[in-house]
Amino acid sequence: MIKHANANRALKRRLGRSVDTSEKGCWAASFDSSKLFFLPCAVITPRQEEEIGEVLTLANKYGVPVTVRGRGTTLMGSAAPVAGGWVIDMLKLNRIRIDDESGMAHVQAGATTGDVQRAADGAGWFYPPDPSSKEFCTIGGNIACNAGGMHGGKYGVTRDFVICLRGYLPTGEAVQWGTATKKNASGFNLRDLWIGGEGMLGVVTGAVLKLVPKPVSRWTLLTAFKTETAAVNAARKLFKQRVQPAICEFLDRESVHCAESATGRSVFQGQNDRAVILLEMAGSVSEVKEQSKTVRAWAKDHAVAYRVARDRDAAEQLWEVRRKCSGAMFELGDSKLNEDIVIPMRSYSKFITFLRKLKTSSGLAIPTFGHLADGNLHVNIMYHRDDPKESKIAEETVALLMKTVVELGGAISGEHGIGLAKTPFLRIQYSAAEVKAMQAVKNALDPKGVLNPGKMFEVFEMWKHQKMTIHLPWDHK
Ligand SMILES: Cc1cc2nc3c(=O)[nH]c(=O)nc-3n(C[C@H](O)[C@H](O)[C@H](O)COP(=O)(O)OP(=O)(O)OC[C@H]3O[C@@H](n4cnc5c(N)ncnc54)[C@H](O)[C@@H]3O)c2cc1C
Repeated sequence: MIKHANANRALKRRLGRSVDTSEKGCWAASFDSSKLFFLPCAVITPRQEEEIGEVLTLANKYGVPVTVRGRGTTLMGSAAPVAGGWVIDMLKLNRIRIDDESGMAHVQAGATTGDVQRAADGAGWFYPPDPSSKEFCTIGGNIACNAGGMHGGKYGVTRDFVICLRGYLPTGEAVQWGTATKKNASGFNLRDLWIGGEGMLGVVTGAVLKLVPKPVSRWTLLTAFKTETAAVNAARKLFKQRVQPAICEFLDRESVHCAESATGRSVFQGQNDRAVILLEMAGSVSEVKEQSKTVRAWAKDHAVAYRVARDRDAAEQLWEVRRKCSGAMFELGDSKLNEDIVIPMRSYSKFITFLRKLKTSSGLAIPTFGHLADGNLHVNIMYHRDDPKESKIAEETVALLMKTVVELGGAISGEHGIGLAKTPFLRIQYSAAEVKAMQAVKNALDPKGVLNPGKMFEVFEMWKHQKMTIHLPWDHK
């Protein structure tokens, strides 16, 4: 018997052309970038925001699980419909309007981050949150995961740019959290509850986003260090001088080797086997000029070598290094546990020491890179899935990593969220009372538990589940 057959019929009667129950349509919505596979029984692609309220009302009536999908770029399995049911695909809700006077972008949740950035840029404004997946991922997905990116240290993450939200409660009622004004102190701030809510507390249909003046000048510098410890200690000294790089990307030696193997070029000619930091200063001409002087002096004092990009093309070549390192890691193992932990600056050097020992004790390659200005490091545990011994070591290694991160005062996720992949570690970060409070919020807003069930609180051991073999548009070649 087809699951939810009555509910599907009611859905089709109500929303007709927006509903797809075909095998092909359901298959396309059955996975996200985690490559875990769970078949839904209908996909709704609303053309009007109101349709979402109707879907949720029916879901509550018939007890059908609902998962919202931006573009499915999450690596955590948070958009995978683990309980089946219906998927709401936000693809067609993608309008963008720039309020030039107030410096705000009025966007529908299905607009991609890249399109929002281009619209802002066209009007002389700048929208800084820049997940590397920005040409694919949506503003709704960014809000649900509180997405970050390389600009986090100077500008902040998605949360810092959301002025107000509108959408639907899991029960199907329309709500708006906040107003399109720069100030609002009216009532509880439920807007911030939705940001990072991972699509479990409501469906975002639209947002008003803060824009900042476009930086007119940029200056890019590559620095090389003998060791990872030397690199992170040097970065801390730079921050103490009140320098705020727009980007400050660290690559450990293993990541540098990956980038070199991907590009076939030396990352820093004449400097073999070095950890590197790529810096970009951005702002007004005078601001960048002033800061670049300080940074150059810092590089002279602390780096073994440094190179300033002559122009934007040269800078782009340096950024290519950063972009390419991640894909090349699959030469070190066919599977990756891709962690996006956050470490407080004071613990940088302790963490680097821990990581060095972890690499030795596990025998696994663990290339690590990330954003030093906000402590968000991408730790990539590489292993071979068909090797039971390596898989077991990878599982133990990630658990030890998470425990240490929390002991050092850090966070188990800085930008990807919990989804399914990080559920085994939620209780390392939060006490029983804290998890209970989160569950109480979920139950209050979603008494029938229809919206994105099975995520966050129920432990899901990702490494025990078969993944699909599929190449997604954003996967590295
Ligand atoms: C190559 C690559 C690079 C990446 N780089 C970064 C990076 O630099 N920084 C970073 O932060 N992340 C990064 N990510 C992760 C991912 O792109 C982000 O988490 C992104 O925010 C997900 O957006 P999406 O539209 O694809 O959402 P999806 O993956 O479709 O969904 C993610 C979660 O958001 C929920 N959701 C989606 N839309 C809505 C909505 N309208 N209302 C309520 N809930 C909703 C879903 O239910 C799900 O829980 C990267 C991913 C890839 C594949």
